[in-house]
Amino acid sequence: MRAPRLRHVTTALSTLVLAVTLAPAGHAAGSSAPGHGDPGRTPPAKVPTAVGYGGAVSTVDPDATRAGLEVLRRGGNAADAAVAAAAALGVTEPYSAGVGGGGYFVHYDAATGTVGTIDGRETAPAGMPTDAFIDPATGAPYRFTPDLVTSGVSVGVPGTPATWERALEKWGRWDLRRALKPATTLARRGFVVDETFRQQTLDNKVRFEAFDATADLFLPGGDAPRVGSVFRNKDLAATYDSIGRHGTRAFYRGRLADLMADVVQHPRTSDDTSLPVPAGHLTTTDLRDYRVREQAPTRISYRGLDVYGMAPSSSGGTTVGEALNILEGSDLGAMDETAALHQYLEASSLAFADRGRYVGDPAYVDVPTTDLLSDTYAAERACLINPSTALAKPVAAGDVTAYDGVCAGGTGAGEVEADTENISTTHLTTADRWGNVVAYTLTIEQTGGSGQVVPGHGFLLNNELTDFSTVFDPADPNRIQPGKRPRSSMSPTIVLRDGKPFLALGSPGGSTIITTVLQMLLNRIDLGMSIEEAIAAPRTSPRNTANVTSEPAFIDEFGPALSALGHRLVPAGDAFTSAAEIGAATAIEFGRHGRMTAVAEPERRGGGAAGVVRRR
Ligand code: GLU
Repeated sequence: MRAPRLRHVTTALSTLVLAVTLAPAGHAAGSSAPGHGDPGRTPPAKVPTAVGYGGAVSTVDPDATRAGLEVLRRGGNAADAAVAAAAALGVTEPYSAGVGGGGYFVHYDAATGTVGTIDGRETAPAGMPTDAFIDPATGAPYRFTPDLVTSGVSVGVPGTPATWERALEKWGRWDLRRALKPATTLARRGFVVDETFRQQTLDNKVRFEAFDATADLFLPGGDAPRVGSVFRNKDLAATYDSIGRHGTRAFYRGRLADLMADVVQHPRTSDDTSLPVPAGHLTTTDLRDYRVREQAPTRISYRGLDVYGMAPSSSGGTTVGEALNILEGSDLGAMDETAALHQYLEASSLAFADRGRYVGDPAYVDVPTTDLLSDTYAAERACLINPSTALAKPVAAGDVTAYDGVCAGGTGAGEVEADTENISTTHLTTADRWGNVVAYTLTIEQTGGSGQVVPGHGFLLNNELTDFSTVFDPADPNRIQPGKRPRSSMSPTIVLRDGKPFLALGSPGGSTIITTVLQMLLNRIDLGMSIEEAIAAPRTSPRNTANVTSEPAFIDEFGPALSALGHRLVPAGDAFTSAAEIGAATAIEFGRHGRMTAVAEPERRGGGAAGVVRRR
């Protein structure tokens, strides 16, 4: 079953639900249920595909897409629209994204024909010890859930406000104040609560109740906001307003910074919670010293296209890139679909083995990005694939220090990696009339982040540091180190054809992000699908494990044939949401004469919202 995700219920349903939910607000400032006579709002419908000209936006949410389109219509460019849409998602998708988290911003500049990136990943505090995930009281590791996920110890220094500021400075036409305006208004006026927002709140109820500030905001009157009610976040509006007026120093310095550090070091738990909530290490100095990293994107060529992705600290660019390089040696388009999918399953697992062995924050570990993206290295990895039998998983990582592209030997047994990445996060894609393009993925890690709202400020702090390996191993590139960025899987991707944009895409989904992006690229480039078909097609997520997490529809269609080759497909579904779906992508494809096709999920997570400035 797909998880329902109807952010904006239909008018008829809204009316029906509102008829039974018109109770007085009666809860703390910062949120709002419908009062007497409050009819709620009728939101725009979700449109998963939009074709047209003059600019395009695709996000998971109609209010966010509308915010981005409003910016484009008023003369803003793709970077301005991306920041506006991201800030709007901080209002309507506060459990997936917001100023308390981080992300990766990939930008194509039409004037120069270049792709640039901003790494706005959260960082470990300078005082975070390498044994931070060991409980000092017992000497034993904290449990992942609930100890680490609802904690101060997993809160990294947020990078999102700095990302927005830098993206606008580098590429925008608007300043932060103007770009944050639509989201500020949205936070103040509110949005209509849907089933998913209510359900995500209920899923988090126990940990939200552990903090008075969180319960006051997201559990007004002790319950999750009701479907059809209008949810307002005046505290967040004030936070955006302050950042807009004063710049990000209003976030990284001063009273808000003092408060964030204090909340992390001394979690403000409610009197009656039984959750342990280990304290963290964030200081005002960490906040003051936070800087985004501007770095070259990863780039590989694939079937005549140039594929640009996010370099480490994300593993997205290297893993997608390596897998594509491995696949380039096979003519997938000429194979039957089972044979092509077999190649994909194997290439992705081989690339994941290397991701685990080699990728971490390059400021702390030596990441062999060039080797991982070398065609010669890929040729040697590709030799390991047997067209008639699946390799035993996990496969071993390759040796990046000695390769010559010549086939030799087999793959040894690899290591099973604990995968604790979550399925939250959000991706948005924007493009403007001048030809600039943005692919931006942002997150607070777990749905609901660390569970801690910064009192009076309307946003959740992330728990991104759970993306570090939880068991410390000095040989592990993703081990905890003070000041380091945990390895990400976020894969915002821009594909150029003859130097001009062809595709921009990305997805949430923890480590399944990489396979979602990869599979969409293969669907579109090799398997003859349109971009709408490529995003809708059933997914499987080969990540070098014996069991390959797959959507039920994928198993129905390809299970028997792939099982015959030795693949073990198992239905997707995480313990937290039991969602049997993988990813929630958005994309824009660029056609001739300025034509843009913006696409979002037609069904997953209730569908997304695509829009263009001028319809076809
Ligand atoms: N923390 C994950 C990452 O950086 C993203 C979480 C998610 O997609 O849910 O890769």
